Amino acid sequence: MSSTPRLFVSHDLAEGKAIPLDDEQSNYLLRVLRLSAGAPVRVFNGRDGEWEAVIGEVQGKRASLVPERHARAQPTVAGSAPILLFAPVKKAQTDFIVEKATELGAARICPVLTERTQTRTVRLDRFRKIALEAAEQTERLDLPEIEDLAPLAAALDALAPGTQIVFCDEAGDDASVPWGGEAGRAGPIADVLPGLGEAPVAILIGPEGGFTPDERAWLRGRGDTHAVSLGPRILRAETAVVAALSVWQALKGDWRGGSGVSQS
Ligand code: SAM
Repeated sequence: MSSTPRLFVSHDLAEGKAIPLDDEQSNYLLRVLRLSAGAPVRVFNGRDGEWEAVIGEVQGKRASLVPERHARAQPTVAGSAPILLFAPVKKAQTDFIVEKATELGAARICPVLTERTQTRTVRLDRFRKIALEAAEQTERLDLPEIEDLAPLAAALDALAPGTQIVFCDEAGDDASVPWGGEAGRAGPIADVLPGLGEAPVAILIGPEGGFTPDERAWLRGRGDTHAVSLGPRILRAETAVVAALSVWQALKGDWRGGSGVSQS
């Protein structure tokens, strides 16, 4: 992994145009990394690709960056980056979900309220900080959008028309046996994804207690939803997020082509 620090900024990036850093970024470069003027830093803003920069003028505790060379272009065509809809779980596991979804290239991260969601509030500022740090580390050229917590139906209604929902459903339909038995079980995710063509996709993961039978029936009854199985074992929600996003990227996403670090 490159030892050159990599920072996200909101400013436009252009050769020679100095960028003032905030206290936290200045502290990170000057005190944590103990760098000084002239030291190399890579910088991106989600619009102008990645630039090689150097630390410019340091005034007191504040540093600036001066972009010098355009190192990576911003992808012009939005890739097939998936949207993640997930029911928040315990704090540490939810933080893990946000971090891994960012590393795995999710375009948007949408916490949703389902009937069995136990965590009914989220800290968006915390999610955004986790996502920013993960994007800097994972060499992404953009940040995922973090949506506010919304009821499941509202979150689905807010999706762009034509978005296909990949509903990770571990259950069967027989309420008299654990996990619903085999009747009505979803097909393997690897068999379902290829049939979705090039439509935008939202992956839906439930809470610790899973989806209720009514929610499953409602979801399966929608015309835009495809139930998928992530195998015979019951995965924790955070494991299911990583598994589903990884399979998506491997079969339909940006793991299939391009050399070097991801262009998204
Ligand atoms: N319903 C179970 C329960 O009561 O413990 C498990 C819920 S699981 C912890 C959380 C979510 O992960 C599920 O709602 C589902 O979206 C996803 N998931 C876990 N294992 C899965 C599997 N084998 N196939 C499909 N989805 C799975």
